[in-house]
Amino acid sequence: MITVDTYTNANEVSGAFGSDTAIMGGGTLLMGALNYGRQNITKIVRITDPVMKQIADAGDRITIGAGVTMSEVIRSRDLVFLAPVAQSVGGPAIRNMATLGGNLFAGTPYGDFTVALLALDGIVKYANGSEQDLEGFLASRGNRRDLVVSVSVKKPAANEFRYRKVVRVKPMGRSVLSIAARLPTSAGRIANPRVAFGAMGTTPLRAKAVESALDGAALDANGIQAALAAVSKEFQPPDDSLASGWYRNEIAPVYLRRLLLNEGGA
Ligand SMILES: Cc1cc2nc3c(=O)[nH]c(=O)nc-3n(C[C@H](O)[C@H](O)[C@H](O)COP(=O)(O)OP(=O)(O)OC[C@H]3O[C@@H](n4cnc5c(N)ncnc54)[C@H](O)[C@@H]3O)c2cc1C
Repeated sequence: MITVDTYTNANEVSGAFGSDTAIMGGGTLLMGALNYGRQNITKIVRITDPVMKQIADAGDRITIGAGVTMSEVIRSRDLVFLAPVAQSVGGPAIRNMATLGGNLFAGTPYGDFTVALLALDGIVKYANGSEQDLEGFLASRGNRRDLVVSVSVKKPAANEFRYRKVVRVKPMGRSVLSIAARLPTSAGRIANPRVAFGAMGTTPLRAKAVESALDGAALDANGIQAALAAVSKEFQPPDDSLASGWYRNEIAPVYLRRLLLNEGGA
């Protein structure tokens, strides 16, 4: 039997919880897992604390509650830069339920929203008040069993943030790969960029060799050559029913180029 506990205060769920307990976000993944076999879950935890739904603008960062859905992101005036990312997650019914918190735990080829959060220097906040950078969270998410309350991201300047998702089935297929980049510039050169890929590993990953190659380069066809050369050596992408790892590595530079130069074509 599965029991459902509802908490009105997120702090009461702070600290690690057992492997028999699952947090309920929108349930788009969790309910499938429960219905089709994860019988070891005996307790579901629902949190109705408004902190899970906050969208708070604070200087150069913005905090997004873990319970904010993709549809709420699309409707938010503060999150206009993330609207195309949220729009790329599933169809309307999924977007109405799917939360940011659940997306952090979605396995490849899902996790498109998390790719964007990674490129925006996401910081995960837990119910006990502790924080962790999103990269560290993703590296250990299989082991860490804490309630995520929110993720804060850097607010990009106009035209600084880019996102693309490559799918076989349009408009709402799963990712062959996805790419998000934050490309600040200084004196006409890229300065301290962030580039993250989805579906190129078991979690969204930063492309650090690509970031190094772009740092200080001009954002034009010549300036990005070293970054394009670096990307196919950066990851060991998985084979799945959508694409082989070899194919993902072949197309990564093509789509990275289109993203960086704002070219058309998916
Ligand atoms: C038909 C379909 C299409 C989809 N398309 C896409 C897509 O295009 N792109 C994409 O990225 N994803 C896609 N998904 C996957 C999924 O819908 C999303 O990743 C969604 O964001 C998951 O959020 P959720 O709130 O439904 O998670 P849930 O199913 O509620 O939870 C998923 C996991 O995260 C844990 N969890 C949830 N919230 C928290 C929290 N606050 N703290 C700690 N743990 C938590 C849960 O315990 C569970 O283990 C799709 C799913 C379906 C069924």
